[in-house]
Amino acid sequence: MAPGAMRTALTRTALTSLSDAQPVPYWLDDPGRPGALPALTGDEHCDLLVVGGGYSGLWTALLAKERDPGRDVVLIEGHEVGWAASGRNGGFCSASLTHGFANGLARWPGELHRLEELGERNLDAIEATVARHGIDCAFERTGEIDVATEPYQLDDLRALYEEATALGFTGLELLDRDAMRAEVDSPTFLGGLWDRRGVAMLHPAKLAWGLKQACLDLGVRIYENTRGLELARVRRRTGAAGAGAGAARAAGGGAAGAGMAVRTPYGRVFARRVALGTNVFPSLVRRVRPYTVPVYDYALMTEPLTDEQLSAIGWKNRQGLGDSANQFHYFRITPDHRILWGGYDAVYPYGGRLSAELDHRPETYRKLATHFFECFPQLAGLRFSHAWGGAIDTCSRFAAFFGTAYDGQVAYAAGYTGLGVGATRFGGEVMLDLLAGERTERTELEMVRSKPLPFPPEPVAWAGIGLTKWSLARADARGGRRNAWLRTMDRLGLGFDS
Ligand SMILES: Cc1cc2nc3c(=O)[nH]c(=O)nc-3n(C[C@H](O)[C@H](O)[C@H](O)COP(=O)(O)OP(=O)(O)OC[C@H]3O[C@@H](n4cnc5c(N)ncnc54)[C@H](O)[C@@H]3O)c2cc1C
Repeated sequence: MAPGAMRTALTRTALTSLSDAQPVPYWLDDPGRPGALPALTGDEHCDLLVVGGGYSGLWTALLAKERDPGRDVVLIEGHEVGWAASGRNGGFCSASLTHGFANGLARWPGELHRLEELGERNLDAIEATVARHGIDCAFERTGEIDVATEPYQLDDLRALYEEATALGFTGLELLDRDAMRAEVDSPTFLGGLWDRRGVAMLHPAKLAWGLKQACLDLGVRIYENTRGLELARVRRRTGAAGAGAGAARAAGGGAAGAGMAVRTPYGRVFARRVALGTNVFPSLVRRVRPYTVPVYDYALMTEPLTDEQLSAIGWKNRQGLGDSANQFHYFRITPDHRILWGGYDAVYPYGGRLSAELDHRPETYRKLATHFFECFPQLAGLRFSHAWGGAIDTCSRFAAFFGTAYDGQVAYAAGYTGLGVGATRFGGEVMLDLLAGERTERTELEMVRSKPLPFPPEPVAWAGIGLTKWSLARADARGGRRNAWLRTMDRLGLGFDS
């Protein structure tokens, strides 16, 4: 077939494949989705208030109870637990706390061994928690392969492998073209780098719902459809209801009679300490807001593959996959043999606008579907059952940042960019350390003590992000060569990613 005719056929295959796609996140479209718990009406008192019912908030609440079962913990969620990024991501649960090894090496070379070790322990702890609480989230420690689809990417993967090995990091395996295609077969694959233990695949929404149940089982009081509207210091005795000796311990000292209050639509929560796990949404601590921007990321889910379709691509070891361009795709297979295919476009809305409208982008779905069939031509005829998007909290260093406000009574963690499924548990630990005023192996880290550079106000943010995105796409088209703008950004330690 002539190239023009092939292109037309591919476009038609891609368009047809989208005709039945439901515009909802596949993971949330599940009969097991729990109903929302009642909203808060009236006043509540507690030792620790957690704001946000995604992984950040849920892990913080659960860990607080595990550290001290006597602590009185309340969690408020503005909508439903797990509806946002935590219920609509790719389900790649990585040990990396630094948005990947290369980013960690570039930013914190001196503490990379420590960060990698803490990350591995964090992933082990997630696996143990899932088992301990019987969380049915299809947790599979399959690892992830970074795939090269261009010769320069193969060179980059080899260089990364050699650098990691020279630094004493084991567990990576370099795959040549045949070895790669024996794992997952695509004519576009030239090789890969397999991190066998450092990543698990899971059902994201079921992890959030399972953590919610685990929190409830340990006595956390959860209010859904309860948005925190305002945070303020109050000079009154907190913890009047249900705060005993454990509560006093949990408070970790602090000014007697002083505490925090969060106003919600139908009531208030008075708390000795507050942990903010509000991700991309406007922080209740205003000065934290410029550190993140929302970046919309999109994904498609196919219908289940038939046995013949499955044998045409292999994928017996069920690893997560990601290609290695700046504009990358991530893809994985579910236990019932659907393929999730996401990424590539990373859309920044002017002014950092958040809106349900932006959760869908047919233009991106068309692009993603076309790329899917370029990658897997043997699956022509397969259809997508779901198409959706969601906002990622991108910060300029891609790895989470942490801090406190109100003399240590409030802690926050945000900026996980596109790799927060695993790292949010570590973020919960850090917030609890900070609220307790404790020096721990976590709080001593340079990564935890430092902050990323904030984003400038509009229209500078729009122009800078636009130029960066244009330059990244150009680098992908020019064998990875970075232009003067990207090299300057690299020197300043600034970037844009999803
Ligand atoms: C499409 C997509 C794909 C992704 N894929 C991956 C992946 O494969 N692997 C990976 O590691 N990461 C991935 N991520 C990122 C990952 O999902 C996030 O880093 C992680 O879920 C962040 O968890 P969170 O709890 O901080 O945020 P969220 O899940 O966004 O939760 C924050 C919660 O806080 C609530 N909230 C906000 N403000 C208030 C308030 N004032 N009062 C009450 N509640 C409030 C919100 O309603 C929300 O439920 C992806 C993200 C997206 C969008």
